[in-house]
Amino acid sequence: MARPRATIPAIAVLAFFTATMARPYPHTEVNSKVQKQAFGKLQDGRSVDLYILTNRQGAEAAITNYGATLVSLKVPDRHGKHGDVVLGYDKIAGYETGKAYFGATVGRYGNRIAHAKFVLDGTTYTLEKNDGENHLHGGFNKQVWTAKDVSSAAGQTLELTYLSQDGEEGFPGNLSVKVAYTLLTGQNALKIDYTAITDKDTVLNLTHHSYFNLAGQGNGDVLQHQLTIHASRFTPVDSTLIPTGELREVRNTPFDFLQPTAIGARIDQDDPQLKFGKGYDHNWVLDQKSPGSLSAAAQAYDPESGRAMEVSTTEPGLQFYSGNFLDGSIQGKDGKTYGPRSAFCLETQHFPDSPNHPDFPSTVLKPGQQFRSSTIYKFSKR
Ligand code: BGC
Repeated sequence: MARPRATIPAIAVLAFFTATMARPYPHTEVNSKVQKQAFGKLQDGRSVDLYILTNRQGAEAAITNYGATLVSLKVPDRHGKHGDVVLGYDKIAGYETGKAYFGATVGRYGNRIAHAKFVLDGTTYTLEKNDGENHLHGGFNKQVWTAKDVSSAAGQTLELTYLSQDGEEGFPGNLSVKVAYTLLTGQNALKIDYTAITDKDTVLNLTHHSYFNLAGQGNGDVLQHQLTIHASRFTPVDSTLIPTGELREVRNTPFDFLQPTAIGARIDQDDPQLKFGKGYDHNWVLDQKSPGSLSAAAQAYDPESGRAMEVSTTEPGLQFYSGNFLDGSIQGKDGKTYGPRSAFCLETQHFPDSPNHPDFPSTVLKPGQQFRSSTIYKFSKR
């Protein structure tokens, strides 16, 4: 039987319109899978990749398996224009040789350990002195992690795993670490979930080290950004940025960010604590509803671009670092250079030097326990 000539095109046209009408914003369709592309080779010849997470609002997070590092994060300003709000490098070589921890997953112990030493179960462990006399952050950001796309209805998720060997950098225990980055469905939010297990008593403090500039990376300083930190106390430090052990009220100090305050409003005040950090480089004791529950930690807002960021975490502390040691010498993404205070870090964490402060919340992890921690960086516009 002869087929009516118009039938196939008519069905095709109908199918096209039905599909198009069912999707009100066809141009915002995204891949349900994380996209993978080459990110270059390390000095030893190993190849590393860049994984691109996208959502229907057009937000995009790019993560490399080198150091489980966030390379870029694009979110809209008040006019809907997407901009990259984190500092970083264009090429893998920058991450391999850089010392700034741009976008890094920091471990085994984020922040400082005094005199690069601690005692656990009667044994003294000695670490590398990589910050004067102290140990700072460690080298998880210089390792190649194993990446896996585990996207679900919750969002596009890249899971990265790394086995830190017993004795690596001086820490005890084989530590198996998992970091999952999820660009959440239905909102412009990046969630980071950490889990870890060990086969020996150890200490760990994992954090995320993005340097944010809500005006866009490389677009001037962040001194006009309004910052709120939900913390009534902070941990004052000595001249080497090691906590003295005191939990000090922020009231009547330049450390009071309980109400939105410009980062630059008091940063150069004649305050010994600010002198030690050359600005803000301190841990705040978060006013959590209940320990370990996901609670609001901080908000930042850039009046210029209208971008706002909310940070919530299960961690008890927040290191606010105002980029004081950036000096314009780093060649960043898109040919930008990063001057002093051209970005800020909000590092959710346990307190610095906890292994040497039995009064601080414990960072000890034992065999049979599972370490769990979550932080969300959520973006909006005003
Ligand atoms: C520290 C700073 C340090 C920066 C880069 C921050 O977490 O608090 O003192 O300069 O990381 O390592």
